[in-house]
Amino acid sequence: MTASVVGTSSDGLSVLEKRALAGETYGIPLAVLAELTHRCPLQCPYCSNPLELERSSAELTTEEWKRVLTELADIGVLQIHFSGGEPTARKDLAELVRYANEVGLYTNLITSAVLLDRDKLKALADAGLSHVQISFQGCEPTVADRVAGYKNAHEKKLQVARWTRELDLPLTVNAVMHRQNLHQLPQMIQMAVDLDAHRIEIANVQYYGWALKNRAALMPTVEQMDEAIRIVEEAEQRLKGVLAFDHVIPDYYAARPKRCMGGWGRQFFNISPSGKILPCHAAETITGLTFDSVRGNKSIAWIWQNSDALNRYRGTGWMKEPCRSCAFKEEDFGGCRCQAFALTGDAGNTDPACAFSPRHEEIFKAAASEAAGEAVPFIYRNFAGGTVATGPDEA
Ligand code: SF4
Ligand code: SF4
Repeated sequence: MTASVVGTSSDGLSVLEKRALAGETYGIPLAVLAELTHRCPLQCPYCSNPLELERSSAELTTEEWKRVLTELADIGVLQIHFSGGEPTARKDLAELVRYANEVGLYTNLITSAVLLDRDKLKALADAGLSHVQISFQGCEPTVADRVAGYKNAHEKKLQVARWTRELDLPLTVNAVMHRQNLHQLPQMIQMAVDLDAHRIEIANVQYYGWALKNRAALMPTVEQMDEAIRIVEEAEQRLKGVLAFDHVIPDYYAARPKRCMGGWGRQFFNISPSGKILPCHAAETITGLTFDSVRGNKSIAWIWQNSDALNRYRGTGWMKEPCRSCAFKEEDFGGCRCQAFALTGDAGNTDPACAFSPRHEEIFKAAASEAAGEAVPFIYRNFAGGTVATGPDEA
């Protein structure tokens, strides 16, 4: 499960994140996302993995990942997020966690949890795992298992979350929200409290890749979004000191786009299962870019500073109008390149989430009309290129 990666003062993540936010150069990021695999037993229709999933035969080997971890630690990275796909599908995960610790990296696991049992989780804790993030698709099995496309997923997740706290590991609940589960938001916040989570990350679906394929099934109405923002603001006040909130506000209905990943190639990179260095987990949805791999003969530091793909949309020099002469260009860096590509066919255009984009009105009227219409069946994410859900009992 790929997700944004900020933290609370209680688990040490936020200290690193604050430092990253302060960085205004293209120095090596302090946190890196390692997508160990695209394999995943779940089939979330909003998955941020690319439509063309990488096969297990292409994945970096254990020894290659160890080399990467050593190199990351050597160049100053402090924190590694093990993600996917489902990272626990890798049999060598505990070995990689142990190794990451040995080279001095703070380790975070971003997981759907369904492949874990208590022994496996304990082995990860013994290997030095520092933090666990578990994704939830709803607050009860009917909705959650249907969204995940996996029977009994919800119960399993609850159990693994309890074991996480029993083993004294800090827990973050990742809640990905859309029109089919937003009505459960108050209960999901309460679920995080009941699970003794330190933090809840409430992320509204971003519409590229699988989520764009499923936009008509996932897009909430403006009224639903307004209500969700009100619920989060109220809960944040009420639960101060109990639960930390990280809320990614949806930008489809906003006037200004989000500062995606802190700006393309600015503060963050992730490594794909086969070793490609990407500025964000969705960057491969943009066609025509060639991303360098850790399997080549270039160092990670060289790739970060010199890669054509990373330099293509760095800073503000690449911008066309209206971004080029806009007062906000250093604030939002033109929004999300993946969304610009998905909705306009050109990643160099202004993100249509911005009201100054000439495409804003047309695209967002279409989205609002989808949101107001009947929800269509999900197209589940899988290696077959997507499967249409056949009904409410699909999971
Ligand atoms: S299918 Fe779901 S759990 Fe699996 S990687 Fe995608 S979003 Fe994460
Ligand atoms: S025009 Fe570009 S820089 Fe200005 S607010 Fe919109 S996206 Fe941001």
